[in-house]
Amino acid sequence: MSAGERAMADADTRLLPVRNPRTGATDFSLAVEPAAAVAAKAAALRAAQPAWEALGLEGRIAVMRRWLGEVAKRANAIAEADAVDTGGCHTSYLQGFITMGNIGGWIEDAAAALDRAQFAGPSKAMPSVDVRTQLVAYPLVGVISPWNAPMMLALLDAVPALFAGSAVLLKPSEITPRFIAPLFESVRAVPELAAVFDHAMGDGETGQAVIAEADLICFTGSVPTGRKIAIACAERLIPVFLELGGKDPAIVTASADIERAATAVLRGAVHATGQVCFSIERVYVHESIHDAFVARLVEKAAEVRVNSDDPRAGHLHPFTFAPQAAIVEAHIADAVAKGANVLTGGTVETIDGGLYMRPTVLTGVTHDMAIMREETFGPIAPVMSFVSIDEAVALANDTDFGLTASVIAGDAEEALAIAERVNAGSVFVQDTFLTFAKNRTVGTNSFGFSGLGGSRTGPESILRFVRRKALLVQHGEPADILNDH
Ligand code: NAD
Repeated sequence: MSAGERAMADADTRLLPVRNPRTGATDFSLAVEPAAAVAAKAAALRAAQPAWEALGLEGRIAVMRRWLGEVAKRANAIAEADAVDTGGCHTSYLQGFITMGNIGGWIEDAAAALDRAQFAGPSKAMPSVDVRTQLVAYPLVGVISPWNAPMMLALLDAVPALFAGSAVLLKPSEITPRFIAPLFESVRAVPELAAVFDHAMGDGETGQAVIAEADLICFTGSVPTGRKIAIACAERLIPVFLELGGKDPAIVTASADIERAATAVLRGAVHATGQVCFSIERVYVHESIHDAFVARLVEKAAEVRVNSDDPRAGHLHPFTFAPQAAIVEAHIADAVAKGANVLTGGTVETIDGGLYMRPTVLTGVTHDMAIMREETFGPIAPVMSFVSIDEAVALANDTDFGLTASVIAGDAEEALAIAERVNAGSVFVQDTFLTFAKNRTVGTNSFGFSGLGGSRTGPESILRFVRRKALLVQHGEPADILNDH
């Protein structure tokens, strides 16, 4: 590119200001990559992918192990950038480390999953024919990720795709782009990986440019964007995996231990300021313990400190995305206007430029309020009472979503019987927030608007990225059309 062309390209570059959630200052700026730049990156990845796939799983595992070493060298810088992006304290650090731990675990899982998907032997239908499976990776996977757990949600799809033999073009959220520089410093330290793993920076326009180039899309984000992405992928007839929002219920029965239930529900509702797709967003409590449960929830909520460093105590960090604070306030205002009571919390406070909300407990809520129907993504626990288990199940299932749910009862058997009736991809029994327990263990499907397509946990996490091809060898004589009847 000539100096003149470069100057013109620079003048055309769209810059996005990025806000720091803890200070409120715009202290980072993101240059949006134009579609032509995204196409050039996609072409380079596509050119490098056959060699990556030809390395075989063992070869790719060796490269990924070296990458893990490079990540470890920069773990603090990567986790720190992720924490600045989200405004999180150790919550984000922990997410970072969980993700890195997963990379190590995936090495074993990748081998086992790909192995299990292979078949070699005689056909049951035609014994003279030997059947063999060949797994062929989708060459270029596009990963479009959200702001609420930026690094984890980018790597949860990118890493298994790389193990499967695909190249990956990652489009992180424009709200939380800081983690990309230290993360990709670790990628560049491993040239074989850098050839097949790249990023494209920008907003929805860049996301669309990635869709235009990729062979398969993994999207995590909101329902409205998910719908646009599904349409764009349908136009190109490429597969898409959607991980979308939730309005996750918790049911607390008459026999539940109130202390246990309040502890679990509070964490599930307010962890990371409620900015988690599997946060508890609705609470249904048996009428016989409603008042005592609510009283304990309010007491415990008062003990939660904002801006603390201890995630295990459920302590809160600022809203990552400033407009989210206004959405949460609007849901609370709508509920109050329709007759709800705010028992604690409920207002956005500005502390040193960051926007915070204390744990918020509401009663007197109904299903005609936005706070019981739309994803709020804030530290809220709106509580409704129920009389019968049938009513509790009907209320829990009265939703467009179905990501996760929680059931807490006097014993696990009673809770399990209720859990089986709730429409959600994962139901946590006798606790909340157990999502990470299914990683590396089982796959799940989201119900309703919460998602579409295969699972990013369990063996399918890797199998999503390969096409299964059958090689069919005839050892007998070919059927002769002249003798067919
Ligand atoms: P979002 O839908 O606004 O954006 C997600 C990504 O899509 C971003 O990278 C954005 O730039 C990109 N994008 C926006 N418009 C696009 C378009 N037209 N074409 C292509 N790409 C486009 O979501 P968000 O606000 O960043 O994330 C929060 C949402 O994510 C919540 O609804 C939350 O529940 C959901 N979420 C779901 C899971 C899950 O596993 N189910 C996990 C975390 C978050």
